[in-house]
Amino acid sequence: MSTITQPAAVPGRFGPYGGCYVPETLMAPLEELVRAYDAAQADPAFRTAFESLLKNFAGRPTPLQHADRLSAHLGGPKIYLKREDLLHTGAHKINNAIGQGLLAVRMGKPRIVAETGAGQHGVASATVAAKLGLECVVYMGTEDMARQALNVSRMRMLGAQVVGVESGSRTLKDAINEAMRDWVTNVRTTHYLLGSVLGAHPYPTMVRDFHSVIGREARQQILAAENRLPTHLFACVGGGSNAIGLFHEFLADRSVKMIGIEAGGRGAQLGEHAARLAAAQGYSGARPGVLQGTYTYVLQTADGQIAPTHSVSAGLDYPAIGPEHAWLADEGRASYSAVSDAQALAAAKLLARLEGIIPALESAHALAGLIERISKFAKDDLIIVNISGRGDKDM
Ligand SMILES: *Cc1c(COP(=O)(O)O)cnc(C)c1O
Repeated sequence: MSTITQPAAVPGRFGPYGGCYVPETLMAPLEELVRAYDAAQADPAFRTAFESLLKNFAGRPTPLQHADRLSAHLGGPKIYLKREDLLHTGAHKINNAIGQGLLAVRMGKPRIVAETGAGQHGVASATVAAKLGLECVVYMGTEDMARQALNVSRMRMLGAQVVGVESGSRTLKDAINEAMRDWVTNVRTTHYLLGSVLGAHPYPTMVRDFHSVIGREARQQILAAENRLPTHLFACVGGGSNAIGLFHEFLADRSVKMIGIEAGGRGAQLGEHAARLAAAQGYSGARPGVLQGTYTYVLQTADGQIAPTHSVSAGLDYPAIGPEHAWLADEGRASYSAVSDAQALAAAKLLARLEGIIPALESAHALAGLIERISKFAKDDLIIVNISGRGDKDM
């Protein structure tokens, strides 16, 4: 069997990617987290608590819905939508927030810190913190606070403290820096609830595991509905958590093709997009490098400075990508490409009009990637598109 089914022969490594590139002060808390996560995974009581909150608090399982009007309109293959937008707080992010929240309780840490870009992860973290009785501090760039004022209000209503970050581009990567700084300072009482498959080991593996319920459900649901596996999976890729959550359960099924869609923004020039694995389409500036604890593809200038990024969707607007995706791309197990802001907006409108679903602009990228390729599919192809969240926040 190929190595694909065993992604991490060395824990935390995906081929050459991943790892643990942090200051010495963070090594002890990361090792503590690895031990706590390993013990939690082996403890049936932890799994029961996790599954109970996913079901009764978050609203799992989410439907796998046949998009009949969209399928007919596009005139190609049968399309199903995995409805993560129907989860509590409106996106897939609650899966991981519940898992890590329970882990914080298990480690005896009464306080969590989190970073947020669009505010979706901050809202999910604040929500879980309220439910589990944890103190919650969310770091958010002031640029993002202005763009996502509704989510700032939601976090405060839930009892979280939202701290504005004025450094750098005042967006997600700056918020991550501040959250890490807080964690180093308060590590005895605090868990860092990281929001995607990014950062140092064990985060990329742990966050993937908490989201892999998406693909486990989708696999059962498509087999029940169609009595066969899908031919293609589509998901948008910011850090990559909703995508790997859908893909993971299908990695060993070699017939299932996986397509991750990145933010092509306004154009292929560095600074105008957030496409890290779409060099074949001419998107420039991504090379392997280390950002925020992990070795992966990073958008950078010729001298190795982190490049500015742009996307209409804040959730995809980040200069690095989860290390497992970098490896799946190198191995050819998944493929990655980008669509523009305009394509994503058009796809969101189409889904709203044909299916009565207003998707998050992030999720609309996945749909736009499918629409762009529609003529290449056969009639009997069977597609699953992950609708990672709902679009209220983007109004
Ligand atoms: C945050 C977010 C994303 C991007 O994050 P991933 O880790 O790549 O999944 C995508 N869709 C929605 C709705 C989000 O809130």
